[in-house]
Amino acid sequence: MVFSPQVMPLSYPYERLPDAGTAFKVAPGVNWVRMPLPFALDHVNLWLLEDGVDASGVPACTVVDTGAALDPTRDNWRRLLATHRLKRQIVTHYHPDHLGLAAWLERETGAPLWMTLGEYTSGQLHRLGVGNYGLDSLIELCRRHGLDERQLAGMAGRGNSYAKIVPEIPATFRRLFSGETVLIGADSWRVIVGYGHAPEHASLYCERLQVLISGDMMLPGISTNVSVQSEMPDANPLALFLESIAAFLALPAETLVLPSHGKPFRGLHQRIAELQAHHRDRCEVLLGACATPKTAAELIPVLFQRDIGDPHQLVFAMGEAIAHLNYLHQSGVLARELDIDVFRFRKAH
Ligand SMILES: [Zn+2]
Repeated sequence: MVFSPQVMPLSYPYERLPDAGTAFKVAPGVNWVRMPLPFALDHVNLWLLEDGVDASGVPACTVVDTGAALDPTRDNWRRLLATHRLKRQIVTHYHPDHLGLAAWLERETGAPLWMTLGEYTSGQLHRLGVGNYGLDSLIELCRRHGLDERQLAGMAGRGNSYAKIVPEIPATFRRLFSGETVLIGADSWRVIVGYGHAPEHASLYCERLQVLISGDMMLPGISTNVSVQSEMPDANPLALFLESIAAFLALPAETLVLPSHGKPFRGLHQRIAELQAHHRDRCEVLLGACATPKTAAELIPVLFQRDIGDPHQLVFAMGEAIAHLNYLHQSGVLARELDIDVFRFRKAH
């Protein structure tokens, strides 16, 4: 008989969700806040960490992530700020649901922004849409990967959606470094930089509490979006993501994971194995479909088992399809051909 290594299944210690505008304790000094989002993914989690007292002796806190720059989030924040003094904002990465309200919060509370350099500058570049960070370049990338004119027109109609939902970003920030330890209240949190979802995503790990604030690098239930973007068309974010999640195996199996979406969970090693299997499986499916040459656009129904019409979803789907194709191409198992300005991928011999 062969015994497979014992891995703990995922468990969710908190069944109840925090009420809007309230903080719910999940570990000593660590509180869970849930903010609404107007997307299919309808919420984002923030973490309020108790952080000593301010200059006038009032208990203060550091928040990890800020929520989207939308009125329901501001309303919830106003309720929180009635009972919490905000001292510092740490933002895991530049995506709108994480960075969106940082400038507003800085104005309301004076709390400075702490962020990695790669995330801060990416946010600024996406907001301004300079160089290949703009919408035109995204449309060109998708044209080259086989989307038709109707689908491209749908994408163009969205405009610079990043600037719409992140209208402003704090003018200054304190740079966070990979491996740095940040003292928050009585606890030390180590910055773990991860790649593949965003350029320099910061997760935070507290050894004493065995708590990982994973951001979007480790989610239960859904797999993290791993996308090629137009400023780095030949990037291999899937290889980076797989390397980054494997590095989380160094943390204890019983770590309490606090993800940006979904509920806090235990079963980190099991979740890593599930995500590795998920991407392996998607790669196999793509390899099978590329027995005859295919574009990324043609492979979307294969990868997602459905057609994707909504332009917002299509951006994510194309990014994810190209990420898997670049990974397989750069591993040498898929060949890539340029056929009148459109890339096609086929199984290499
Ligand atoms: Zn994200």
